[in-house]
Amino acid sequence: MQSIFKSHRPFLIAGPCSAETEEQVLKTAHALKEIPVDLFRAGIWKPRTRPGAFEGIGEEGLKWLQRVKNETGLKTTVEVANTNHLELALKYEMDVLWIGARTTVNPFLIQEIAEALRGVSIPVMIKNPVNPDLKLWMGAIERFQLAGIQDIAAVHRGFTSFEKEKYRNDPMWQIPIELKRIMPAIPLICDPSHIGGKRELLQVLAQKAMDLNFDGLMIETHPDPDQAWTDKAQQITPAEFKILLQNLVLREEHSDDVIFQKNITEMRSMIDQLDEKILRILSERMKIAEQVGLFKKENNITVFQLERWNEIVLTRSHWADEHGLSPELILRLWQLIHQEAIQLQMKVMNEPANNESVRINE
Ligand code: PEP
Ligand code: MN
Repeated sequence: MQSIFKSHRPFLIAGPCSAETEEQVLKTAHALKEIPVDLFRAGIWKPRTRPGAFEGIGEEGLKWLQRVKNETGLKTTVEVANTNHLELALKYEMDVLWIGARTTVNPFLIQEIAEALRGVSIPVMIKNPVNPDLKLWMGAIERFQLAGIQDIAAVHRGFTSFEKEKYRNDPMWQIPIELKRIMPAIPLICDPSHIGGKRELLQVLAQKAMDLNFDGLMIETHPDPDQAWTDKAQQITPAEFKILLQNLVLREEHSDDVIFQKNITEMRSMIDQLDEKILRILSERMKIAEQVGLFKKENNITVFQLERWNEIVLTRSHWADEHGLSPELILRLWQLIHQEAIQLQMKVMNEPANNESVRINE
């Protein structure tokens, strides 16, 4: 089965955060048709974090989306968050459905929606849950797969945190990358709009997604973003979207070029040798750490000494700097190494004495 999301790269989904008026929806769609995009999105039911804000236009908006289909030929997608939404979305012949981040967190709802889709052939996009829980994301994908949905894409929209820093939702790129590793057949789409929360961040985020070999992009577009009823800071006009796409550098995952292959193989072989060296050194270091553990045991000294750890952190950060490496990376690395050394020492310290000679002779 050829997935709609793999029809070409990047698969483009665009449209307003919310359908507001018939005019706004049609104006956006006609402009996007010219780019062109692959799928027109618009939120009909809006999951607002707190009550009192615009909660979506409802069923009326589905009629506007039907007009989009008829007038532009664009395929359409809406978010469904319960079986009632689902019934209406199917009644108005939406082409693709998407599950929002606040729904993915709830296995009961996901199961209900998936069950209601049994026997229906429609592609479904599943956004990551708001919390950084890969299993929950995978679980939602699996529930739709078990209900017989064959064309499923995962949408990465970042993860909420208490402290809002640079991003509205922390991208934590390692999570979608891990999803790709475990479920390589699931196309991966990035939603830079909800990650960034600010239009200035979209270009860099979209480029990053392309460099990480994502299959597509979902970007919120509005004819007059500053007047948008929802998510105004992150929406861009269709014209700005076009510029973003023109600025995007698309790179291939593979190249058959002989010179490229020769050079990359050489460089990778150098890296392999260095990694092996690192591992050998690490193993030597652990053996000495183990001896230190025995020595501490003989002298009745605790495994952990704060001054030594402080000294390690200080010197290694300094050395990292001297070698042009980031002190944060080195700190993280040494925390792991030190933790492992402590565990080893704990083990030798608490092992029965008759095992010690065996260990020393090893
Ligand atoms: C949206 O795409 O408009 C939306 C509500 O997204 P999310 O579920 O990622 O918050
Ligand atoms: Mn939005």
